[in-house]
Amino acid sequence: MTTQIIDGKQTAKDLRAEIAKEVESIKSKTGKVPGLATVLVGEDPASAVYVRNKNKVCKELGFESFQHTLPAETTESELLDLVESLNANPGVNGILVQLPLPDHIDSNKILNAILPEKDVDGFHPHNVGLLTGGTALLAPCTPAGIIHMLDRYDIPIEGKHAVVIGRSNIVGKPIAMLLLHRNATVTICHSRTKDLPQMAASADILIAAIGRAHFVTADMVKDGAVVIDVGINRVDGKLTGDVDFETVSPKTSYITPVPGGVGPMTIAMLMSNTLKAFKNVNSIS
Ligand code: NAD
Repeated sequence: MTTQIIDGKQTAKDLRAEIAKEVESIKSKTGKVPGLATVLVGEDPASAVYVRNKNKVCKELGFESFQHTLPAETTESELLDLVESLNANPGVNGILVQLPLPDHIDSNKILNAILPEKDVDGFHPHNVGLLTGGTALLAPCTPAGIIHMLDRYDIPIEGKHAVVIGRSNIVGKPIAMLLLHRNATVTICHSRTKDLPQMAASADILIAAIGRAHFVTADMVKDGAVVIDVGINRVDGKLTGDVDFETVSPKTSYITPVPGGVGPMTIAMLMSNTLKAFKNVNSIS
C-alpha cells in the first residue's frame, strides 16, 4: 500500500494565500476588510500563544484584528458587556473568546451571548442547530478543516463508512455531522462503545479525536483506510497524536501527521469563517 501523508501545513498555507488574495480584491472594490476580535481572560500561557497566533495570521491576511486582553479577575458581567460592545461594532465580523475561561465565569453564558452571525467558532446553539440541519454558514473550525483537507486531496466521502472516535461538541459531533451531510455512513464511537477496535477496523475513513497518545493501533485500521488524527498529546515533551503513526501509516492510503496535519488547518478555517461572516453581512458573494 502506498501511503500518502496529508500535508496540513501546506494545505493551510494554500488556503491562507487564497483568503489573503480575496481580501485584497474585496478591499480594492469596497474599501472594507474583515475584522476578527479575540478576547483573552487571564494569563493561561497556552491560550496566550493561541491568541497571539490568531492575531498574527489576521495581520498576515489583511484582516483587522481587535485584541482584548483582560485580567483573570474580570467579572462575568464585565465580559458580557465586552461581548455586547463587539456584537454592536460593525467593524467586527468574528468574535473569538478563548477558552478555557476562569472558573467564576460561565462559559456557556458568554458563548451564547455572541451574535450567531459573528460566532466564527460555530459553538452557538443557533449555529449548532444549523449544522444539524445541514445549512450552517459557520461550522466549527477543526471539523471544517478536516473536510477541507479531504477535499484538497480529492478523497471521496460519499458512500464511505466513516468512524469517528470521540463525541465532543467541538470535534467529534460536528465532524460526524459534516461527514453525514457529505453522504458518508457515520458511526460515532466513544469511551462506552463496545467492540471499538472492530468498529474502527471497518472504517474507510477513521477520525481519531480522543486525546490519548497512540490509542489507535494497526489492528484497528483497515488496509487502505484514510486516517485523520486530531489528537494533540504531549509525551516526553514531544507532540504526538491519537494514532500510533509508525505502525498504522503503512496500512493507510492517506494519513495526517501530528504535528503538521489537522492542527494548522484550525486557524486557517477560523480566518475562512471570519471572511464568510464578513461577506454574509456585506452581501458579497
Ligand atoms: P474531549 O476530551 O472533549 O473528548 C474526547 C472524546 O474521546 C470523548 O468524547 C470521549 O468519549 C472519547 N474518549 C475518551 N477516552 C476514550 C476511550 N478510552 N475510548 C474511546 N473513546 C474515548 O476532547 P476534544 O476536545 O474532542 O479533543 C480531542 C483531541 O483532539 C485532544 O487531544 C485535543 O487536544 C485535540 N484537538 C485538536 C484540535 C486541533 O486543532 N488539531 C482541535 C481540538 C481538539
